[in-house]
Amino acid sequence: MSDRSTLLRVEHLRKVYESTTGDVEAIGDISFTMDAGQLVCIVGPSGCGKTTLLKCLAGLLRPTGGVVEMDGSPVTGPSPAMAVVFQEYGRSLYPWLTVRGNVELPLRHKKLSRTQRNQLVVDALDAVGLAHAARSHPWQLSGGMQQRVAIARALAYQPEILIMDEPFAAVDAQTRADLEDLVRELHTSREISVLFVTHDIDESVYLGQRVLVLSKSPTWIQEDLTVDLPPERDQITTRALPRFTQLRTHVYDQIQRAKRGQAVAPGATS
Ligand code: ADP
Ligand code: MG
Repeated sequence: MSDRSTLLRVEHLRKVYESTTGDVEAIGDISFTMDAGQLVCIVGPSGCGKTTLLKCLAGLLRPTGGVVEMDGSPVTGPSPAMAVVFQEYGRSLYPWLTVRGNVELPLRHKKLSRTQRNQLVVDALDAVGLAHAARSHPWQLSGGMQQRVAIARALAYQPEILIMDEPFAAVDAQTRADLEDLVRELHTSREISVLFVTHDIDESVYLGQRVLVLSKSPTWIQEDLTVDLPPERDQITTRALPRFTQLRTHVYDQIQRAKRGQAVAPGATS
C-alpha cells in the first residue's frame, strides 16, 4: 500500500532482454519503496543490472513484468517528475550550445515564461557553483564541471526525483569527493529525493541514508541497509568513523557474496 509520503513504489519488477542470439534475464525480481525526500543508493557488481533498473524506473525501458509507480501513478514512459543524470557527461551535453543553453533546453518543453525560465537556469547554475561559466561551451570545461552542468540541467527541470547512474565514475578522486558533497548538499538544503546508483561501496555508504545491495544478474535486492551515520557528513570526519568502516565492510562482504552467487534469495528457506 502506498501512503502519502511514498514517492516511488517498485513491485516485482522483472526485465528480460530478448534477442535473436538468446534472452538475457537482467532483472530477476525487484521490489522496494522510496519515500519523498530520501537519498537512496543502489550498489551492486558490474553488469548486475543497475542501469537496466534505472531505465525501467525512469520509463526509458519497458519492464517485462511488475509495476513502477511514481506518486501512486504507473510509470509508462519518460515523466517530467524524473530527471536522470548519466555517467557519460561527454555525450549528454550538446557541444554547440553554451552551458546556459544546455541547462535551458529541456525547459522549452514546459509552459514557462521567459523570465521564469531564466530564473530557473540562473538558480540551477548557482546551486552547482557554475554561475560564472554560463556563457562557456561544455568542451571548455573539465569533466567535473561538465557533470555539474548535467546536474544543473536536471535541477532546473524541477523533478520530484533525481536519478543518477554512476555519475562520478569517470572523474578524478578529488573532483568526485566534491561532487558527492554537492549531491548531499542539494539533498539536505533543497530536500531533493535522490536515487543514486554506483558500483563504489564507500560512495554508497558515504552518500546514502539507505543502501540497496543488489545481487549479481538476474538481480534482486540482497539487502536493504539503513545507514545510521549522522546526517551531517563530510569527507574526512565521516569516513574516519568506526561505524563507517563497519558499514562499508558489511556492504563489501555482501557484494563479494553477490559476485559468488552465495546470497540466499528472498523467500528461500535456509
Ligand atoms: P550494470 O549497469 O549493473 O553494469 P546493466 O544493466 O548495464 O548492468 O546490464 C545488466 C545485464 O543486462 C548485463 O548482462 C548486460 O550484458 C545485459 N544488457 C544490458 N543492456 C542490454 C541490451 N540492450 N540487450 C541485451 N542485454 C543487455
Ligand atoms: Mg551501468
